[in-house]
Parts: sequence; structure tokens; C-alpha cells
Amino acid sequence: MTEINNAKIETKEMAKESESRLSCQICSGQSHDLFYNRDSTRLLCCQTCKLIFLDPLPTPEEIDKIYDDLYKNASTGYFAKVDKKLCRSRLRVRLLKRYVSGGRFLDVGCNGGFMVEAAREAGFEAFGVELDRASIDYAHRNYPNNTYFLGPIEAFAKNAQEFSAVYCSEVIEHVPDLNGFVAAIALVMKPGAVLYITTPDISHWRRPKNLEAWDGFDPPDHCIYFNPSNFSRLLASHGLEVFHRQFAWKPGIKVFARKRDK
Ligand SMILES: [Zn+2]
Repeated sequence: MTEINNAKIETKEMAKESESRLSCQICSGQSHDLFYNRDSTRLLCCQTCKLIFLDPLPTPEEIDKIYDDLYKNASTGYFAKVDKKLCRSRLRVRLLKRYVSGGRFLDVGCNGGFMVEAAREAGFEAFGVELDRASIDYAHRNYPNNTYFLGPIEAFAKNAQEFSAVYCSEVIEHVPDLNGFVAAIALVMKPGAVLYITTPDISHWRRPKNLEAWDGFDPPDHCIYFNPSNFSRLLASHGLEVFHRQFAWKPGIKVFARKRDK
């Protein structure tokens, strides 16, 4: 019993220690609850906006290491189920075309270039940004009529602007610096441009109660876990207003946001 109490006190002290040095990236809240703690993985939950994040967040060096291992399939120069990937990409481009007729399209975290290719087929001038060299090589080889950039969106954004559509699927949950990432996305978008962005939804009614049984739970690769409310708030703080939520049967957030005219 004493041991349990000691463990509780220790946990409280750990949480207190975090309070003093962390502030929530979305709402700047300073108070967090311990949400998950097992082995070396510790997640905190912001008491105000309920953003859940890994503590400590990965450093840039750790991110590089994660990316070395991340696209294991891509390292062989081959992606599985390519037809299925292209088919899904074409459906998603069709959804996007409801809100933006053409212009320049960018996929942030473009993987093997499937969505970039689908956007080109639909009449966009299509670009892809990706951190993984093997994925970019694959995209160049298989879909050569598009433009690709190897590196982070923050670097790409310095010289690229005026996109009318940006797509970013299942990437932002990997990103420790949320505001730097979303600011870079907003920077490349022209006023009125549309962002189509997806990420797992930890608050979704179909998310397994046992966190470890959920395929969206993947620390340390997934270091941030959103709910629809704090996700919209993050986008809005960078001038991106959510105007449509796609129904998600699986525990995910899929939203369209428009860049304000200023
Ligand atoms: Zn917060």
C-alpha cells in the first residue's frame, strides 16, 4: 500500500515538475495531467485544451533517426498496394476539387507521390514535400511530371508561395513543433486557398478504450494526439478556418480549412 502511495506521490511530483517547464503549444496552458506512463513513454494532457503530447518531445536528432527507420517499405524502392493508394488519392482530389478548381497543389509529406500524381491528373500543377529520400526517389521515378522537394516544409516555405491547395495527411501527429509546421503551411497558401488535413482523433467515439489497441497510438513516432476542437484552434491561430469536417468512421480528424483573406 505504501508503495502504491509512494508511486502516486512520485507521479504527482513528476507532473508538477512538467507544469513548471512546459506550456501547451495550442492554448499556452501551463497545467497538465499525466495521461499515459509506461516503460519510457510518458504522455501529458493539457488541462485546458486536452492536447496530448509526448514528454519530452523528440529532438531534431531523434526525428532524423525516426525518419531513417520510418519508411522501411520505401527503402526498398517499392510501395505496396500502389493501385489502392492511387485510387484513394483520386477520390481525395475529387473532394478537394469541390472547393478549389485548380492552380498549384502541394502535398506536405507526400510519400511516394501518389496524391501529387492524382492532383496533376486532375489539372493541378502538382508539388510534393517529403523528408524521406527513398520516398522522393520513388516519386521521381514513377511520377516524373511533378515537382518534389526533399526536406521539411519549413525550409520549402522560405522560397515557395501562392499554392491554391495544400494536402497533409497523417503527418502532423509526427511533428514536435506544431506552430512552426502550421505557420509554414499557411505561408505557402495564398489567401482563400484550401487546406485538406487529416490526423488521428484520440477523442473519437470508436477509439479503443485500451490505448495500446488503437492503431493511431504509435509513440514516439506519433508524438501529438489531437481532438477536433484543439485541432481547429491550432489551425485558426494561423489564419486557417475549418469550414468542412469530413465524416470519419475510423478514429480520425479530416478537415478542410480556408486561409483567411486577412
Ligand atoms: Zn492546451
